[in-house]
Amino acid sequence: MAKVKRVATKRTVRNVKPAKRSVKKTLRPTSKKKPAKKAKPVAVRKRTAPAKKTTPLKPAIKVDIKELDPIRKCGPGTSVQVLLKVVERVDGKSTNHLVFFDKYGWYCDHGRNCPAVAHARRQRGRRVNTR
Ligand SMILES: [Zn+2]
Repeated sequence: MAKVKRVATKRTVRNVKPAKRSVKKTLRPTSKKKPAKKAKPVAVRKRTAPAKKTTPLKPAIKVDIKELDPIRKCGPGTSVQVLLKVVERVDGKSTNHLVFFDKYGWYCDHGRNCPAVAHARRQRGRRVNTR
């Protein structure tokens, strides 16, 4: 009697376990995802609200402009009239620009559309234009 019982339980356990597990594994993730998706938008909304407050703080851009000697940097024959080193600091990251002014106008080593050009113009543009 005892022998028979042992065999019976072992078999049922063996047969049931693998079948049930594989079915549950595929079913559970999908059933769990649905309520999670509904809950997420609420959490995201709460997060985006303070994020909007931080965006106006974006003008934490600090710009340091140093005037360099164009003749020293570019040689005595240079047509560069103004040479500015613009250090742009955004969120602790600093970017160095070299902004030139010559007869063709202002330009940065990153190109004419570089924001450093605008910074340099604001600081030195008037003086150069009244020349
Ligand atoms: Zn630049």
